[in-house]
Amino acid sequence: MTRNPTDLPVLDHWVGGAAWAGESTRTQPVTDPALGVATKHVRLGSTADVDHAVEVARAAYETWGVASMAARQQVMFRFRELFTARREELAEILTGEHGKVLSDAMGEIARGLEVVEFACGMPQLVKGAYSENVSTGVDVYSLRQPLGVVGVVSPFNFPAMVPLWFFPIAIAAGNTVVLKPSEKDPSPAVWMAALMQEAGLPDGVLNVVHGDKEAVDALLDHDDVAAVSFVGSTPIARYVYERGTAAGKRVQALGGAKNHMLVLPDADLDLVADAAVNAGFGSAGERCMAVSVVVAVDSVADALVAKVRERMATLRTGDGRRACDMGPLITREHRDKVAGYLDVAVADGADVVVDGRGVEVDGEPDGFWLGPSLVDRVPTTSAVYTDEIFGPVLSVVRVEGYEEGVALINASPYGNGTAIFTHDGGAARRFQREVEVGMVGVNVPIPVPVAYHSFGGWKASLFGDTKAYGTHGVDFYTREKTVTSRWLDPSHGGVDLGFPRNS
Ligand code: NAD
Repeated sequence: MTRNPTDLPVLDHWVGGAAWAGESTRTQPVTDPALGVATKHVRLGSTADVDHAVEVARAAYETWGVASMAARQQVMFRFRELFTARREELAEILTGEHGKVLSDAMGEIARGLEVVEFACGMPQLVKGAYSENVSTGVDVYSLRQPLGVVGVVSPFNFPAMVPLWFFPIAIAAGNTVVLKPSEKDPSPAVWMAALMQEAGLPDGVLNVVHGDKEAVDALLDHDDVAAVSFVGSTPIARYVYERGTAAGKRVQALGGAKNHMLVLPDADLDLVADAAVNAGFGSAGERCMAVSVVVAVDSVADALVAKVRERMATLRTGDGRRACDMGPLITREHRDKVAGYLDVAVADGADVVVDGRGVEVDGEPDGFWLGPSLVDRVPTTSAVYTDEIFGPVLSVVRVEGYEEGVALINASPYGNGTAIFTHDGGAARRFQREVEVGMVGVNVPIPVPVAYHSFGGWKASLFGDTKAYGTHGVDFYTREKTVTSRWLDPSHGGVDLGFPRNS
């Protein structure tokens, strides 16, 4: 890091295996949300900075794209070992920029590491298929080859895990990467890139360029970027998908969410209340898989609201380094925007059961605090219901029964995650078939798939045809080539203009 005039350090890009200042002089403060003060600045790369990083990645691809599978795999195994040993260091950095509590940061890292472990098995995943003697003396085989340089653009809410959804698979498959992390919490990306170098990754294979829209547009427009993986809000995901595909790239763009949890009357309400509180307020609700709407069948709704409220009273909001349950929100603006939904709730006739604005915190007064909030009887026309709030505001919507609940979920423009809580196996099976959502939990509130399945929603939660990681990730970062081969044999000679037939 270099220093800037206010004497705060400036976080550089990471290009060609070293910190790099680039040509742009634009910077932006990075805050510690629990303290409410800037702790560093981050560079905001220009188009020229992105062009340089892509050129470096393009040059590195010349050798990395043909490196042996064994060589690539050894880097991934070594990275996994180093990362496992040092993950607490990353958790501290992450909490200091994002605000989530340390135990949650460790959980994020653990889920990201699962993808690294999956990527260690890349030789098995790309080994293709072989058909011998499909016609007399003719063999056919399919290969999976890397694309070249790929771009990754990530959001603020998982500054380690979301990059880890992508770059290990892209790199293990032989691609080189330019990663543009969120400018709000950019340090974990650089930490991981430096660790990859320590694990033996050749310089230039993984590059990090910080920035905002200018850097993202430069990646989307660059002729030498073959594919872009994006995660962020729905309007930007749609934009990235449209601009990237118009430029002829492969794009997968994961967007926002509004996740519902349907509670049937036969469910164990104590377990449901635990699940709703954990999934609603973990990471201060800044998770794309957070439960933001509890859809409760009316007959049990009062009892459930009482149990949720009871549990909320035990949560400690404060600095994530002080063993609290819930940390601050990412910025002051975001905190104010989320808190504003409590006024909207009152204006729209909902019951604010718990108002987090009055929370007592274990932290500095300038932190971006909002305590857990619960709003009952939310009208589905209210912005509290229709907007992705992305904060610790849990809504309750009451329905008559299963049909009304499923219809409500299916009417949402989003389709990221959902869950049903019931003891009725038949209802659960019906739900998994009927619900129009990409990731479904049955008595599991945050159904984030393991690394060897794939992560992705439906509808406005994912633009593109492939999900993140798992076999979808391998498909996204590779192209299949099919070879039909015959070794020359004089018995197969002769002129024949007909379409080749197998015999
Ligand atoms: P965001 O859309 O504001 O930013 C995401 C990325 O896009 C950042 O790197 C940012 O620099 C860049 N960006 C911002 N504005 C841009 C523009 N106009 N043009 C080009 N690039 C731009 O999202 P965020 O606030 O960082 O993250 C929260 C959002 O991400 C939520 O909506 C959440 O649901 C979503 N999210 C989705 C998933 C998923 O898997 N579906 C996972 C995590 C987060």
